[in-house]
Amino acid sequence: MNQERLLQRFIRYVACDSESYDEREFCRMIEEELASLGIVPKRQEVGPLCGSNGWNTYSMLPGTGTPLLFSAHLDTVSPGKNISPVIEGGVIRSNGETVLGADDKAGVAAVMEALTAVVESNVKNRPIELLFTICEETGLLGSKHADYSMIESRDAVVLDGEELGSIINRSPAHMKLHIEIQGRSAHAGVSPELGANALKTATDAIAQMQCGYIGDLSVMNVANLLAPGKTNIVPDKAAFDAEIRSHSEEELQSLLCRTKELVQDSCRRYGTSCAIDESRVSNPLHVPEDSALIRTVSDAFRKTGIAPVIQKTFGGCDATWLSENGIASINVGVGMKGVHGCSEHIAVDDLVSIAKVLELLMGAE
Ligand SMILES: [Zn+2]
Repeated sequence: MNQERLLQRFIRYVACDSESYDEREFCRMIEEELASLGIVPKRQEVGPLCGSNGWNTYSMLPGTGTPLLFSAHLDTVSPGKNISPVIEGGVIRSNGETVLGADDKAGVAAVMEALTAVVESNVKNRPIELLFTICEETGLLGSKHADYSMIESRDAVVLDGEELGSIINRSPAHMKLHIEIQGRSAHAGVSPELGANALKTATDAIAQMQCGYIGDLSVMNVANLLAPGKTNIVPDKAAFDAEIRSHSEEELQSLLCRTKELVQDSCRRYGTSCAIDESRVSNPLHVPEDSALIRTVSDAFRKTGIAPVIQKTFGGCDATWLSENGIASINVGVGMKGVHGCSEHIAVDDLVSIAKVLELLMGAE
């Protein structure tokens, strides 16, 4: 790969605005660059399903051996318009007014540069599939709606992690709860004894719910408490949301039961009733550490002088949906730092290293 060309590529990509829902220009740029390599990009028209003017781009470079999918997302968070990168002391930053967009254009640039190097060289490559998605930042929408029937690979490398060398092989099962409390209204001054206070029920339950880390495997959160009303009326309605994420399905189920029991106990105390709506956001993802995929990626990092570190996350990324669709997926760190803020940056050396890792992975086995 060509370091200077990689740097120019990254600068060109971040200068092409692509906040979530507005990725069209960047989708076009990537399509043109793929076409210039003689690769036919295929559009997955998921824009209308995501509320975006963009699309997912799928493409394939034939080769010999086991196919491998490389994936990165095309959208950035806000503020991501008119990004004007500055290179200082070997580090690329925004000018402080916007994000840099290394999340995830470092991933996109590394994939495109490695691919270009593979196409230019006479060295054999494995079959390489690429999936660039939109609207990752707004709830993994592009990967959720992607057309997986096009994809042959059973393994995928998602380039959307932070620390260079990190390999995320576990993400949690994730459930959301919407809880509505039904009480009884009454005049708060004249006949409070006739009321059943829905807001007190909700806050009583919330006060007893654990939030944050629960052991090593689970996290919980509660939010969005709503009980609009006037102080002279006992509130008869309250609602709130909660979520549970766990690397253990068993623990998830037990936290779910405990949460429901807490709410029901509070209802009994206050003479109210509840309706609990539960929905699953994602299933757990786990690629075993001794899998061929993790061994291959770890080797490529080591050959590039980087120690691989296998990690779990409580967050989601496109790997979640790839995995839901039967593709064993890991999320690999590309060196981006301070993401989702105006201090976002990436070291030039890290960008070069991840592109080298990808070039190794794209080579024939
Ligand atoms: Zn990202």
